Amino acid sequence: AAPLAIVRGAGEAADHGILMRTGEAFQAFRSVRTVVLDKTGTLTVGKPTVLEIEPAPGAGRAEELLAVAAAAESASEHPLGQAVLDAALDRGLDVPAVDDFEAVPGRGVAARLAGQLVLVGRPSFLEEQGIDTTALAARIAELESAGRTVVAVAWGGRLRGIIALGDELRPDAAAVVAALRRAGLRPVLVTGDNRRAAERVAQAVGIEPQHVYAGVLPGEKAELVRRLQGEGRGRVAMVGDGINDAPALMQADVGIAMGTGTDIALESADIIIVSDRLEAIVDARTISMRSYRKTL
Ligand code: ADP
Ligand code: MG
Repeated sequence: AAPLAIVRGAGEAADHGILMRTGEAFQAFRSVRTVVLDKTGTLTVGKPTVLEIEPAPGAGRAEELLAVAAAAESASEHPLGQAVLDAALDRGLDVPAVDDFEAVPGRGVAARLAGQLVLVGRPSFLEEQGIDTTALAARIAELESAGRTVVAVAWGGRLRGIIALGDELRPDAAAVVAALRRAGLRPVLVTGDNRRAAERVAQAVGIEPQHVYAGVLPGEKAELVRRLQGEGRGRVAMVGDGINDAPALMQADVGIAMGTGTDIALESADIIIVSDRLEAIVDARTISMRSYRKTL
């Protein structure tokens, strides 16, 4: 009887803007006890904007900093890269062409401009590449505590400044976390972003600090899901949108992708939220519980 019930569930799900790619995962939903939520693009809208541009002490002007960063990001598909490029274009800046563009997932980008290596990314990425970021460390900490994502910019082997970006919460994020909790599920936040910004979002939506995993590299998101699965506290669902979420979506017992997400995320998911309403994950669970009951 199961297939019929699943088909019924699929129709009802479709009415709610939920696309079920596999029947098994929909059934598995009933034993999910932990829901891992990606921050950027899942709990937040995923459209960051540039809020501050600060050259390093003794470095050039903010316009130059932004133009060079935008040049390095011009081929980036990352929302942060797009935001930096948009900010430069909005200000009417001339964005030069770069060579040898390289995206380093979960870290940043590298490109060559007029023979110099330009690096744009999380401060730890620049440190890994031998750039000293201490001149702006206090300012970075301050901005991150205010919930910002701070991207550092270097060229010619020196830190040239930082760009702070902000993203808005989805309007239904807190309601969804509360609904998951009422249903007896444990919400967990995972992000490649910094801990301070992550905890700020967690607090705003009602996720405890001990359930926040920040600074997680793309490969490690799947590792986290595996670890939570190993705790023996029921099955684990993962909700994400990015390329960096794809392995975790595959690893999860129930992988859920936001419909606005990247193709790789959609292909890796069992369930796709076509409507772009985060609340649809609660609907998906309700429908899956009901469809399952019909099979008994
Ligand atoms: P999330 O999990 O929040 O979607 P990512 O794993 O994509 O984040 O990225 C983690 C961090 O790496 C970002 O917060 C940012 O600091 C840095 N980063 C990644 N890609 C870029 C980029 N194109 N430009 C600047 N910084 C980047
Ligand atoms: Mg994301």
